[in-house]
Amino acid sequence: MSLTDLTLARAREGLRKKEFSARELTEAHLAAIEALNPQLNAFVTVTHELAGAAADDADRALARGEGGALAGIPLAIKDLFCTEGVRTTAASRILENFVPPYESTVTAKLKASGAVFLGKTNLDEFAMGSSNMTSAFGAVTNPWQRGGDPAALVPGGSSGGSAASVAARLALAATGTDTGGSIRQPAAFCGIAGIKPTYGRCSRYGIIAFASSLDQAGPMARTVEDCAILLGAMAGFDPKDSTSADRPVPDFAAACGRGISGLRIGVPLEYAAPGVSGEIAALWERGRAWLRAAGAELVEISLPHTKQALPTYYIVAPAEASSNLARYDGVRFGRREEGGDLTELYEATRAAGFGDEVKRRILIGTYVLSAGYYDAYYLRAQKIRTLILRDFQRAFETCDAILTPTAPTAAFAQGEKMDDPVTMYLNDIYTVPASLAGLPAISVPAGLDPEGLPLGLQVIGRPFDEETVFAVADKIEKAAGFSALPALRAGA
Ligand code: GLN
Repeated sequence: MSLTDLTLARAREGLRKKEFSARELTEAHLAAIEALNPQLNAFVTVTHELAGAAADDADRALARGEGGALAGIPLAIKDLFCTEGVRTTAASRILENFVPPYESTVTAKLKASGAVFLGKTNLDEFAMGSSNMTSAFGAVTNPWQRGGDPAALVPGGSSGGSAASVAARLALAATGTDTGGSIRQPAAFCGIAGIKPTYGRCSRYGIIAFASSLDQAGPMARTVEDCAILLGAMAGFDPKDSTSADRPVPDFAAACGRGISGLRIGVPLEYAAPGVSGEIAALWERGRAWLRAAGAELVEISLPHTKQALPTYYIVAPAEASSNLARYDGVRFGRREEGGDLTELYEATRAAGFGDEVKRRILIGTYVLSAGYYDAYYLRAQKIRTLILRDFQRAFETCDAILTPTAPTAAFAQGEKMDDPVTMYLNDIYTVPASLAGLPAISVPAGLDPEGLPLGLQVIGRPFDEETVFAVADKIEKAAGFSALPALRAGA
C-alpha cells in the first residue's frame, strides 16, 4: 500500500513502529500535491520547507520514543486559519498578501501535537459558498467524476480544498470550518468524513470570522476514527475565545468503538421534503436499516421549524458577516487601493478586494441590520433561531441522535446552479439547522449515486455529545463499507 493511501490511525502506527519516517510520509504527500494540484487547485499555498522541517522534528521526537498524538502526520489546513508567518488569504483578494503575525489556537494545538502542515487549502471566499466557485484563486475540482465523464465537478464548499485534498490523497486529513455546512457538505461531495463539533468545542481564536455565532472548526478525514483522533487534538478550552467551552475533551476515538444497542435514533419527518431525490431517500432508508441491525431503535421525530432554518440562516449569517467584514478597510492590514480621501480609499479597497458573493452578503447583512428593518428581519430571525433550537431540545427528549441525509444532491458540475444564488443556498437545507442550534453533526460517506458519485449521511447529536455521534457514525461507516475511489488521486 502506498503511503498516501494510509488512514491517519494506520500512519500513526507505522511511524511509531518505524515502518517509515515522517520525512518519507511527508515527501510522498508533497509529491502527490505536485502531481495533482495543478488539476485540482486544492492548495493555494504549499509550504514545502516548513513541512520538511516539521517532519524532521517529528522523526527526532519519535526516535526518542516521544512525540505528540499527531507526530509526523501530514495535514492540510484550510486557508481560513491564521498561521504565523505563512500567508493566510481566506481566498480573498483583500487578504491576498496577508501574512499573520500570530497562530490560530486550533493550528497551534495541532503543531504542538507534532502534526506536519503541508500547506493552506482553497475555499469559497471568506467561507461563503457551497461550491468553492467563489474563491479568488479559482475553483477547486472534485477528484470524483460522473461515470466516464471528465467534466469538472465542484467539491462542495466552503472547505472544498480540504475535502478534495483528503479525497485525492494529497493529505492524510485536513482542517475545515463549518458555519452552515462547510465541513459536512464538501465531505459528502468528496466521499470523506467530516464533523462540525458542538459550537464552543474548538476555539475560534485566529480563524478568520464569517458569522461568529455559527463558525466552528472541525476535522475532515477518510474515516470516522481519523476524524475522532484529529478532533481530540483540535478541541479544548481557550481563554482567548469567550465562546469556547470550558469542559474536558473526551477520548473521541474510544467512543467510535461504543455499541449503539438500545440507542434511540430520531428520523425527522420534515426532512423528507418533496425535493429529495429518489437515491437520497433510498440511502437514508438504508441508513435506518443499518442502525436498526446494529441494535438501535428508530423513532420518528418532528422538527417543525425546519422550513424556516434556511431563511433564518441567510439573515443571521450575512448580518454577522457584514459586521465582521467591516474591518477590511485598507487602513490597518490587507489590500489598499488609494483614494482622494478616506471614504474613497475605503470604497476603492472594498470594491476591488471583495468578490461578488461577499459583496452580496455584506449588502444583505447591512440591510437586515439597518434601523428600519432590524425588527422585521434580524430580530425575527433571532426568535426563529430559538424556536429551531427548541425543536431539537424537544426531539432529544425522545431520541439520542438524529439521522438525516447530508445534502439534497451529489456533487454538481462547475458552473451549475450559478444563475440564481438561492438555488445554491438550497444546498444547505440539511446542514443549516444543526448549525443554528450549535449541535455536533458529522457526515459519513454511505453510498454512490447511479453515476458513481459519493453520497453522505448526517448524524446530529446533543450539545457536547460528539461521542454518541462518533459511535453512530462508526456503525454507518462499517455497514456501508464505502470503498470506492475517486478518479483523480495519488498513485492512480
Ligand atoms: N454554504 C453556506 C454558506 O454559503 C455555508 C458556508 C459555511 O458553512 N461556511 O453560507
